[in-house]
Amino acid sequence: MKIRSPIVSVLGHVDHGKTTLLDNIRGTAIAHKEAGGITQHIGATEIPIKVIEEICKGLLEKYSIQRIIPGLLFIDTPGHEAFTTLRKRGGSLADLAILIVDINEGFKPQTYEALNILKMYKTPFVVAANKIDKIRGWKAHKNSSFLETFEKQVPKVQQSLETKIYELVGSLHEEGFNAERFDRVTDFTSQVSIVPISALTGEGIPELLTLLIGLAQQYLKDQLTIESDSPAKGTILEVKEEKGLGTTLDAIIYDGVLKQNDKIVLLTLEDVVVTRIRSLLKPKPLEEIRESKTEFKRVKEVVAASGVKIVAPGVKDVIPGSPLRVAKDENLEDIRNEIRKELEEVKIETDKAGIVIKADTLGSLEAVIKLLKEETDVPIRVADIGDVSQRDVIEAEVSKNTDEIYGVILAFNVKILPSAKTILEESGVKVFSNNVIYKLIEDYVDWMKEIKERRK
Ligand code: GDP
Repeated sequence: MKIRSPIVSVLGHVDHGKTTLLDNIRGTAIAHKEAGGITQHIGATEIPIKVIEEICKGLLEKYSIQRIIPGLLFIDTPGHEAFTTLRKRGGSLADLAILIVDINEGFKPQTYEALNILKMYKTPFVVAANKIDKIRGWKAHKNSSFLETFEKQVPKVQQSLETKIYELVGSLHEEGFNAERFDRVTDFTSQVSIVPISALTGEGIPELLTLLIGLAQQYLKDQLTIESDSPAKGTILEVKEEKGLGTTLDAIIYDGVLKQNDKIVLLTLEDVVVTRIRSLLKPKPLEEIRESKTEFKRVKEVVAASGVKIVAPGVKDVIPGSPLRVAKDENLEDIRNEIRKELEEVKIETDKAGIVIKADTLGSLEAVIKLLKEETDVPIRVADIGDVSQRDVIEAEVSKNTDEIYGVILAFNVKILPSAKTILEESGVKVFSNNVIYKLIEDYVDWMKEIKERRK
C-alpha cells in the first residue's frame, strides 16, 4: 500500500485567473520564456512535496501539517468542462478543486456552474479569492507570506479586503456553504476556506498550497491509499497526433502501475479496443529539450498518481474522458465487459417519447443529464456520445409527435453532421447547441416555458 498524490483541478469564471494561477504554480511563465515557447503537455503537472515545502517556506510547520502525500498533481486544463470530461467511475477524477473567484467581481455565472458541479460530484474545494493586488492601496511585499503582508497593510485596505471576502462568504452561504477566511484547515463538507491570493504576484499561493496539502491529508487518506503494484487504472485526457509518434493518448493514472508492453483496454464509439503499449513518455526537463529538440523521454513505467503520454497502435477512435484499464490474458474478458458497462451506465436508449442528448465525452454527457434533471423532469429518449446524426433527428422527430417540447436535441460540444442537417429543417426538430452546460440547459428550459405559457 502507498499514498498517492491528490489530483487537483482549477475551476472558475472566465478571466478570473485560472490559467495564471496554474502558470504560477507550475512556474511555466518563466519556463516558457526559457524554452523559447516549447510547450510540453501531457495533461497534468506533478509538484513534488519537496518543491511545495520550498514554496511554502515554513507554513507546513506553522500549521503542524505532516508530509504524508508525495505531492500534488495539477490537471493542466482548467475549467469545469475539463473537470466533467475527466470522469472516473462513481465520481470525478479530481480529488480536490480550487474554485477561483476574482475578488473584485465576486460570483459570476460560471462560478455558480462550477460550484454546482463540485456539489454534484461531492468534490472538496477551497475558494481562491484572486486579484487581491488590484484592491486599492494593496502593495505586494515580495518574499513575505500573504498573512505577513496583510498585517502590514493600512487599516483601510484591510477593511476593503474584509468587505470583499465577506461578500464571497455571503455568496457561498446562499449556495449552502459556511465559509471562513483563509488559513484554517476546516471540515470542508460544509465549511469552505477562502484564501486571498494574487495569481499574478504569487501572494497567498503558499497558503493555498498548504491548505490543499492539509485537506488532502486530513480527509482524503482512504481515497489516496492505493496498492502500489496493481495493474493501472486511469482516465484518457486527450487523443492527439504527435509528430513522429502517430496517435498518442494523454492519460492520468490514478491507481496502480502502468508499464511498457502492458495490454490496455480502452473505449471507442463502436466498442472497446485492446492494444499494447509501445512506449510511455514523460516531458523532458527543459534543459534537455533545448539540446535534443524532442520534448519527451521514454520511461519503463509510471506509478499513480501521474500524467503520461502513451504510444500504442489502434487508438485513433478512443473517446477522451473514457477509462483506461490494464488487463492480463486471464481477466481480459472481465475488464472488457467492465469498460463496456461504463458507457452503458451513462448512455440512455429508450423507446418512450423524450428529448435527445448528444455530448462529446462520457463525463460531459453524464454532467448534462444530471444537471438537466435538477432543472426539469423532461424524459430523455436517447443520450449518447458523438455528433448529431440523421438517426438522432429521426428519434427526436418521433418524440415531437407526442409533444412539441420533446422534439429537441441538446448538443453539447458536438457538431451536426451534414446528413442530419439535410433532414433537420423539414423535421421541425429544434437543436440547442452550446459548449457551456448551464447555457445549453437554460436555453432549453426557457424555450420550454415559453411554449407552456403559450398553451395556457
Ligand atoms: P482564466 O480565463 O480564468 O484562465 O483567466 P486568466 O488566467 O487568463 O486571467 C485573465 C486575466 O486576468 C489576464 O489578463 C491575467 O493576467 C489577469 N490576472 C489573473 N490573475 C491576476 C491577479 O492576481 N492580479 C491581476 N492584477 N491580474 C490577474
